[in-house]
Amino acid sequence: MTERFDVRHIRNILPSGLLRKFIRPKHQWRRRGRAFSIFDTAAVAEKFISINGEGEKSGELAVFIRFCGCNLNCSYCDTAWANKKNLCTETLSARNILSYVNKTGIKNVTLTGGEPLLQQGIAEILNLLCYYSKRPLYIEIETNGSVDISGFSHYPVHFTMDYKLPSSGMELSMLTGNFMFLLPDDTVKFVIGTKNDMERALEVIYEFSLLKSVNIHFSPVFGKIEISEIVEFMKEHKLNDVKLSLQLHKFIWDKDTRGV
Ligand code: SF4
Repeated sequence: MTERFDVRHIRNILPSGLLRKFIRPKHQWRRRGRAFSIFDTAAVAEKFISINGEGEKSGELAVFIRFCGCNLNCSYCDTAWANKKNLCTETLSARNILSYVNKTGIKNVTLTGGEPLLQQGIAEILNLLCYYSKRPLYIEIETNGSVDISGFSHYPVHFTMDYKLPSSGMELSMLTGNFMFLLPDDTVKFVIGTKNDMERALEVIYEFSLLKSVNIHFSPVFGKIEISEIVEFMKEHKLNDVKLSLQLHKFIWDKDTRGV
């Protein structure tokens, strides 16, 4: 795997003012004073604070921004409602989103969907959240593995990228070139519905040497496979560096509850 320059390391050693000066993309210098445009906005299905149910920050509080619309149609999609245009209740500007996040007082921010990277205003949203928040944020982007992430890899964010397995019906849409742009603290999530999915996940892990390169999560499709079956598979294949990731919110609340 090719290593790319990790802007997040610089973030830890430079004062924030310097960071803004040197890291902020050049085109942003021209934005001051410019009126809002469609490129600064996004369709938001819901925004709320809850427990991060999966991913590296599982169990911690997070503020979620769920964007509308997705280019895939996974067999097990549990947020298909958010992909319907008439249910996209709010159009928010990047500044609206920054202001909401600032007011929550929560450090972890999860941008999810749908597919967040398809929003027209996503670059401006990332720019404001990364460089203009009132406090340091841990920004996680949940992306579905079919959208090119290379244009977003310079932001100091954490990707949780799905690799869609056969039971999703969407594997042909996966862009494996994205693996090259992930860093060791990013995550590849395999959502598993069948034994065949696990076997395919293993093939992908070995083919792209993912074990030492990124965090790897196995996440069961809720109600479709026994969780113990996944654990047995992990034991059988000595998957020391793979983490079982459960959708905590579905154990705490009813699986169909929204806004949690
Ligand atoms: S990528 Fe996510 S939001 Fe889109 S259809 Fe699949 S599960 Fe649903």
